[in-house]
Amino acid sequence: MGSPSAYSLRALETARECVILGARPRTIAHLTGLTPGYILRAVYCERYPAPIGRPQYSEDFFFKTTRRLQAEACFLATHYRRLTSEGFMQADALIAAFRHHRATQPDSTFGFDQAFFLISRLDGIWAATKSGLSFVECLNCRSPYLAPHGMAQRDSCPVCRTDWRLKSRARARVRASSPPAPPVDPPKSNRPRQDAPWQLDLDIAHVRLVGRLQQLGAGDKVLAVLAEEPRAKLFRAPRGRPTVTSAYLSRPMPLATWSAKTEVTHRVQYAVFASHFRRVVRLDLSLTEAMCAAFETTRRACRDYPKPVSFDRCFEVAALLDGIWGVTEKRLELLQCASCSSHYLVSKADSHPSGCPFCMLIRRHRILLPALAA
Ligand SMILES: [Zn+2]
Ligand SMILES: [Zn+2]
Repeated sequence: MGSPSAYSLRALETARECVILGARPRTIAHLTGLTPGYILRAVYCERYPAPIGRPQYSEDFFFKTTRRLQAEACFLATHYRRLTSEGFMQADALIAAFRHHRATQPDSTFGFDQAFFLISRLDGIWAATKSGLSFVECLNCRSPYLAPHGMAQRDSCPVCRTDWRLKSRARARVRASSPPAPPVDPPKSNRPRQDAPWQLDLDIAHVRLVGRLQQLGAGDKVLAVLAEEPRAKLFRAPRGRPTVTSAYLSRPMPLATWSAKTEVTHRVQYAVFASHFRRVVRLDLSLTEAMCAAFETTRRACRDYPKPVSFDRCFEVAALLDGIWGVTEKRLELLQCASCSSHYLVSKADSHPSGCPFCMLIRRHRILLPALAA
């Protein structure tokens, strides 16, 4: 483990939320399943360093703390329960409830790790092996509050025993005696800071890219090359194959007889793809980004084609067109047709190039696209 591709986008994004809310490594490990090694290496960063010390995984704090903090914890738990009964997943519900708590009680000292453990004990999940807390309804104010199982004292509701008007002085005392809440968003300094990139953000982008490539139908090796996975550096062209790129594909395109061996409708789609690819590359996107964007545009433009071209073939076209991804020289070129002025692809090694596929398509449209012949 340790490679971000092994983790789900969900786990990484949950970890990101937790870090911003001040969670400790163990809490993040419980909520996401990420390994401690990965969490220390990639999840914390200069801006959000790992909090020091072990998390207080004990419900003692809850019964020994001020009534006001108990009441806040009860509100959080009630909010959490409302969200889970609406179908939210437990980790998402905890994060949403804690964010709400932060927004409504900005001065509160109730920390994320404490909220995490309280919810663990309420539902018998994550850090708790079984449930030890349950909701009791106060007979006086009708608020649900938390009590140990079977210990419901109907008169110990922290919500109505808290003096909500007492604010500043008492709160300041509490704050001075307990650890400060972790910063939500440290104030930005005016000096331009050269922060190292947050590894977690890079990993989230990587996992997103892998998902996008898979969804576009990229083969395993092409995906590794485009996502710049370390294993791609080990790929070698088999003997007799002229380029590294052709090693990614089981059967490279026959460049010496390209126009004759490639179907006209495929040549049309490759031409559409190549034109978009060239255009997008000029917009200063990364090659991988350009590859995905041009392929998506082609697929939309040619969605009625009975035989759509594959992602890997378009990858091959782009590599041969621009001499990239292991191809050392350009082997395809885009020419403009003299009669229809469309751009189309020609293989430089083709001894009998058969001309513009768009013109051929117009000539043969009755056979190829009978539905459009009206
Ligand atoms: Zn009450
Ligand atoms: Zn033409």
